[in-house]
Amino acid sequence: MEGVVEMKGKLLVIGFGPGSFDQITKRAKEAIEESDIIIGYSTYVELIQGLLTDQEIVSTGMTEEVTRAREAVRQAEQGKKVAVISSGDAGVYGMAGLVYEVLVEKGWTQATGVEVEIVPGISAINSCAALLGAPVMHDACTISLSDHLTPWELIERRIEAAGHADFVVALYNPKSGRRTRQIVEAQRILLKYRSPDTPVGLVKSAYRDRQQVVLTTLENMLEHDIGMLTTVIIGNSSTFVYDGLMITPRGYQRKYTLTSDDQPLKLHQRLRKENEPWALEQETPKGTKTSLEWATEALSMVSQDSTPAVKPAIITKAATQPESIFEFAVSTGVANKKFTPQQMIALAEVAGEKGSIEYTPHHQMILRIPTSEPEAVTARLRSEGFLLSAIGDVVQLKACDFCDGEKTDSIPYADEIQESLGGLQVPKELKIGFNGCGMACYGAVKEDIGIVYRKGKFDLFLGAKTVGRNAHAGIPVAEGIEPEEIVPLVEDIVAFFKEKAYPNERFHKFFKRIGEIKGFKYQEVPAIQIEPMACGD
Ligand code: SAH
Repeated sequence: MEGVVEMKGKLLVIGFGPGSFDQITKRAKEAIEESDIIIGYSTYVELIQGLLTDQEIVSTGMTEEVTRAREAVRQAEQGKKVAVISSGDAGVYGMAGLVYEVLVEKGWTQATGVEVEIVPGISAINSCAALLGAPVMHDACTISLSDHLTPWELIERRIEAAGHADFVVALYNPKSGRRTRQIVEAQRILLKYRSPDTPVGLVKSAYRDRQQVVLTTLENMLEHDIGMLTTVIIGNSSTFVYDGLMITPRGYQRKYTLTSDDQPLKLHQRLRKENEPWALEQETPKGTKTSLEWATEALSMVSQDSTPAVKPAIITKAATQPESIFEFAVSTGVANKKFTPQQMIALAEVAGEKGSIEYTPHHQMILRIPTSEPEAVTARLRSEGFLLSAIGDVVQLKACDFCDGEKTDSIPYADEIQESLGGLQVPKELKIGFNGCGMACYGAVKEDIGIVYRKGKFDLFLGAKTVGRNAHAGIPVAEGIEPEEIVPLVEDIVAFFKEKAYPNERFHKFFKRIGEIKGFKYQEVPAIQIEPMACGD
């Protein structure tokens, strides 16, 4: 058959990962082993030395990439199996594109030309991320700061866009001996959009002998060593550092809160089902379909009737699943307990069809609204005179109605407490009850901190246990506090709790454990003996 079968070569464009043999894929190893010739930058050829047997080596300097690609194509066309190697993935600032460019220039097609196999590898964004924790997680981009082949204005625009759109950014080629300005400029641009505290990971020589991993911030990143072999990973606005790890949460659900520093989403809340609206087993409000039902319906339509496969309505529905749920409490004010019809309409309108309104025992409505525009929601409600409060582990003021506005003397103090402490983040939710007369009919003495205005002065109660069979009122710790002293005193108590309480420790437990708060002593509350009940009683 000689002369009939043309001996066709093959181009294997191989990413060998970050550097260590453990991080090379099985296929990449095999591909290197089965090649006749290895073509690559000399440092890379050295890195894979241990895998080589009797292959011919063509190694050249860094800048001779085009020469390398041409040589590879030439050798393959002569019937050789040629491996072109790149670090990381060959398709990420590597040789893959270049090899195709050379082929295209020569009129190559898949059917007629030499066979090409691109062998994927672990790119620096992935290897470096793994060493840092889980910084990528969400939408991310890679930007190479090398302006060798790309105009700097374009690179600048990309950094700008990535900053603006809150992408996690992996900067490749951040700096070299001669190129030192670009990383400074990149930092300057990103600081326009991101907090100086944004976590930044610097990983040098990942999975190689001189590996270095540094965790820093956007503000301080330039104080560390950054070079040719560094990848810089810049977090998004949700990225956080925990125990030396850089972590970007999976989503932004309930990211919107009333003030930026209160009520961050806690892990157990984030991991709830309702925070994964896209999950198939997700429960949905009565009368609406679950994702699984939508998917099943779509599938049955596809299999029964292939034209048109899926009706557009289904696609639209699935695509508009909410990503962020804005959760907060509304009330009609510190002292006012009456809703106007307009306010009720406003509540219904902002909640819309998908939001929910929950009435709580704390004279509040909790709103949960899927939205991408929390500011529009808050602006609307505030314009209707609503008081908006954060919920979760924050300070909340529960005031009475001051006898329908008749006993107004103490209202300014309640307002001041709301202003100063409302929404403040604390280790565990903390309710301050504030009642405008000795009747205390709104139950101030049943809150964590109870304040009762009586005969021009204030009485103070601390540490009520509000729930359970052994619920009890707060301990009366002081009477006749001068009005000008009450706000600073409560502020001090809250500050002490905030500083000293364990995470999740309720105020009454804290009081019992610590024994004394700002000079007020804890006293044991007489426990009523409750006979254990026989089953069924
Ligand atoms: N194809 C490669 C990227 C080549 S561009 C890949 O997919 O990873 C060269 C840049 O990649 C370097 O400047 C550095 O930013 C990054 N890089 C490559 N290998 C790395 C490693 N082992 N550790 C850290 N960064 C690396």
